[in-house]
Amino acid sequence: MGLFGGYKCSFCGADRGFLGNTSLKDGNLCGDCEGKLSPFFKVKEQMTVSEVGAQLKYREENQKNLESFAEDEQITLAEDTIYLDKKAGRLFISKTAKGKAGNPDLFPFSGIQQVSCRVDRNRETLQWKNAAGEIISCEPPIYKTTYALSLCLTVANDHVTGQYTLKFASDLDGMDAFQLITRKEELDEIIAGLKALRG
Ligand SMILES: [Zn+2]
Repeated sequence: MGLFGGYKCSFCGADRGFLGNTSLKDGNLCGDCEGKLSPFFKVKEQMTVSEVGAQLKYREENQKNLESFAEDEQITLAEDTIYLDKKAGRLFISKTAKGKAGNPDLFPFSGIQQVSCRVDRNRETLQWKNAAGEIISCEPPIYKTTYALSLCLTVANDHVTGQYTLKFASDLDGMDAFQLITRKEELDEIIAGLKALRG
């Protein structure tokens, strides 16, 4: 293992350079194998080959289980979709266009731990261009306030705990109370539905 040497991945056996290699307590993990891990599993240097190996095995099983996932309902948010298989009592979450691609983690309904709504407020100072083309603002300033609503979901299976913050609506005009309340009610309904799945 000299200066220009590489490492052998303890999982796929590939010879790799220093780049993209993660050293473990008793072995090495190449970038390709690391890419197969769940985004909710963080590799640490003191982890063993057997710990990481168990996660890779879980990910293979997850991929197989996704094949039999029979979606009977979906909840579509701004950018993500929650896919439900109500008969089997399980779900997965993925970017809307991606579906099962990328091997998203499957979670049982019983693993739903926390579901809540997050409200973010964004305040910006209104500015204009005057006749000379200069950007000016009022003194005292006039603010434009917008709101964004997100769904926060923590859900676990036997191997990982997924923490999701999923955008539901953004750039909601702070002056439009009706729109704000309506969108918040829609999100509350989704939250109630997810809590009910937990049983
Ligand atoms: Zn590898």
